[in-house]
Amino acid sequence: MTNRREWLSSLSTLAAGCFATGAMHSHLDEACGVDDTNNPAAKVADRTTTIKLTKLTATPVHRKVFLKLETNLGVTGWGEIDQLETQVAAALARSLFELLDGENPTRIEHLWQKIYRSHRDMRGGPFMTHTLAGIDMALWDITGKLWGVPVYRLLGGPTRDKLFMYPSPKATKVGAGSQPFSGNPQQIEQFVKAIENARKQVGPDGTVMFDAHCALPPPFLIQLAAAIKPFDVLYIEEPAVPGNIEVFKRLKQHIGIPLAVGEQARTIWEVITYLQEGCADILQVDCAHTGGITQLRKIATLGEAYHVPLAPHCVTTDLGASASLHASATIPFFLLHEYYPSISPPGLVTKSWSIDKDGYASLPQGVGLGCEIDEAKLAELAKAPHKPEWPTRGRLPDGSIADY
Ligand SMILES: [Mg+2]
Repeated sequence: MTNRREWLSSLSTLAAGCFATGAMHSHLDEACGVDDTNNPAAKVADRTTTIKLTKLTATPVHRKVFLKLETNLGVTGWGEIDQLETQVAAALARSLFELLDGENPTRIEHLWQKIYRSHRDMRGGPFMTHTLAGIDMALWDITGKLWGVPVYRLLGGPTRDKLFMYPSPKATKVGAGSQPFSGNPQQIEQFVKAIENARKQVGPDGTVMFDAHCALPPPFLIQLAAAIKPFDVLYIEEPAVPGNIEVFKRLKQHIGIPLAVGEQARTIWEVITYLQEGCADILQVDCAHTGGITQLRKIATLGEAYHVPLAPHCVTTDLGASASLHASATIPFFLLHEYYPSISPPGLVTKSWSIDKDGYASLPQGVGLGCEIDEAKLAELAKAPHKPEWPTRGRLPDGSIADY
């Protein structure tokens, strides 16, 4: 049984035999009486049966890795790995191709499971899920191109006509740097002023967010949250370093502003506790952190069950941002999406969506992720000498290590 068509035609032969002999067995009831002429399924051209993954190319560029997946039918897909040490991420992606070589790229969930669960001691964690995210994006890109539709069509179709983006004229975010413990009046006032200015900038009908970057200890954040109450902050992002749900429960108890969590929560198993414990008002998970489109959508479903919307975090190039927009376009509970055009090296990625004057992104156009990668530009950018980047910004005035 080499392909679906042969299999279906063998069923119809079998069915004809059934009629001839009258030997109807219960498990063949469906097959008997259905032939190629009367069976609509037999007329569906299955373009995915013979496609196989043949090659993966991982190209580190600055702080990103661009993944190209190739197939025997000439259809290719692109994905982006973000926020990892790029040489390690590229090597991991090349190694993981051992699990993909010869596989049908349209079996996306199956391949996601195959990679994620292949090595029980390497399950989860940022290196696995961020790398898997790049692969997942490329698999969706291939599948959309193969069927001639945008990826969001494969995900059930768009649930909205446009997506609200930030930063934009009506939405802005203020970020925090590390603090040692509680704040003195001057420190608190400095953040309050920044938030007040942000509110003035977007006006009373705009959106202000505050990113604590896991850098403000609970006593500081509780003080600050009380002081910024008049400025109607949509949410406080990354209120604490993940790891102990009790810290989030304590913050939730003392802070009257919604909390956004999930930038460092990578899978359904990491997100579920925040929801169960009532600590997440908004999920700001990142498509490039979670294991791609496949896992982001599952997280959105968990959120839906708790009436918690997604506000996807995003610091990828236009390639990763496009993947995130495809997923975000299809989920029911969505708030707004992060995006920085300056992250994309000029001329490398051509995207198929734009942002209007009110800050709304159009739905991506074209097939797959709807992105074009200039491969000559990619090769040129990849020649720049690699400089491993382990950020050293997290230092307190006394020289000790901080979280941001
Ligand atoms: Mg953040």
